[in-house]
Amino acid sequence: MIEAFRHCHECGSQREFAQLHPDPGSCPDARDGSCPEWICGACGAGVLVALALVPLDRAA
Ligand SMILES: [Zn+2]
Ligand SMILES: [Zn+2]
Repeated sequence: MIEAFRHCHECGSQREFAQLHPDPGSCPDARDGSCPEWICGACGAGVLVALALVPLDRAA
């Protein structure tokens, strides 16, 4: 599973996000496997939609 630390508006701080559909072909929005939807692993409510996703800052 691909995860990345990003700012969650619900939590108000940096949280670990995971792709909603991490498996190639499982995302109905992105057939190339790059799901644009990311969910906050802490609250589960913060959803980040990144259609033009830049290289992620991986968890250090
Ligand atoms: Zn959150
Ligand atoms: Zn998806």
